[in-house]
Amino acid sequence: MTNIYGIILHGGAGRYRLFTKEFVEKRKRELRRAALYAFEELKTGSALDAVEAAIKYMEDSGLFNAGKGSSLTITKEIEMDAGIMDGKTLKCGAVACVKNIKNPIKLARLVLEKTDHIFLAGPGAEKVAEILGMKIEPIKITPEKIRKFERVFKLWLEGKWGTHLFRLKTLYKDFIEGTVGAVAIDKDRNIAAATSTGGYSLKLPGRVGDTPLVGCGFYADNSAGGASATGVGEYLTLIFACKTACDFMRQGVSAMKAAEATIDILTRRFGPHTGGIITVDPMGRIGFAYNTEGMGKSIMTSYMGEPAVAVFPEEDHIILKSIKK
Ligand code: ASP
Repeated sequence: MTNIYGIILHGGAGRYRLFTKEFVEKRKRELRRAALYAFEELKTGSALDAVEAAIKYMEDSGLFNAGKGSSLTITKEIEMDAGIMDGKTLKCGAVACVKNIKNPIKLARLVLEKTDHIFLAGPGAEKVAEILGMKIEPIKITPEKIRKFERVFKLWLEGKWGTHLFRLKTLYKDFIEGTVGAVAIDKDRNIAAATSTGGYSLKLPGRVGDTPLVGCGFYADNSAGGASATGVGEYLTLIFACKTACDFMRQGVSAMKAAEATIDILTRRFGPHTGGIITVDPMGRIGFAYNTEGMGKSIMTSYMGEPAVAVFPEEDHIILKSIKK
């Protein structure tokens, strides 16, 4: 198993069939391109550079709920969260509730590289971004985002949309957002993980989900593995989803079995339609699991000729047959 390197990405878990077929295909194309883009980085660079590149690509795409494509809060604002972790050093950087940063993952990387802290939030995080030379620019609230907001807000008024803990159970049964995540292993066997989101629609202002919380929305440790999660952030946080998956892998459990065991815990505690996870173990094996209708994912490794992409369970064999288990 020497010299295996690769990356797995996700583009969110949820009810994908709510989208048109064309939109699902568009997302799949973007997942494939993001995997290729990040894999180029991985050929010569580090796992950390590769996961940052993958997330930046998807934040800029506008097709996912991260960066440019972020969903709106109940007060019609954009509040983005992101986190990144280097499994070699356990260095980690995260930001929450940022509004005017084109690429929250780049700011998270700067927190990791340039500060003594792990996690910066809100206006303070943006002030640090400015000091560190990042441009402050609001994310556009497009007519399309307003239309989505109004559609979901109507459901909320009818009591069919959960933004309170007891109603969250059905959130991803009936809906899909599109948080983005990446986990990679490089030629030096270093593992890194990163996740970015606008959070789900109609979240309360100031709400922070699992995405920027280390161990919940992302985690990487060379001696255990790496993971990135998506789904109902409150539930993923309560089970420390990514640290849980890494703890399984630390015991020698494969990436695939660790992902399945973690989602099994999520389902048993909080029910189906609550989330998904992607994983990489120190042997370079790749895993994923989800309890929603679908989860967008793409994979590219040093032993594959081209990326494999799948959304629905019936397509997952495309990925399964291209990865070593
Ligand atoms: N986990 C994200 C959050 O709760 C949302 C998602 O993954 O769709 O903010």
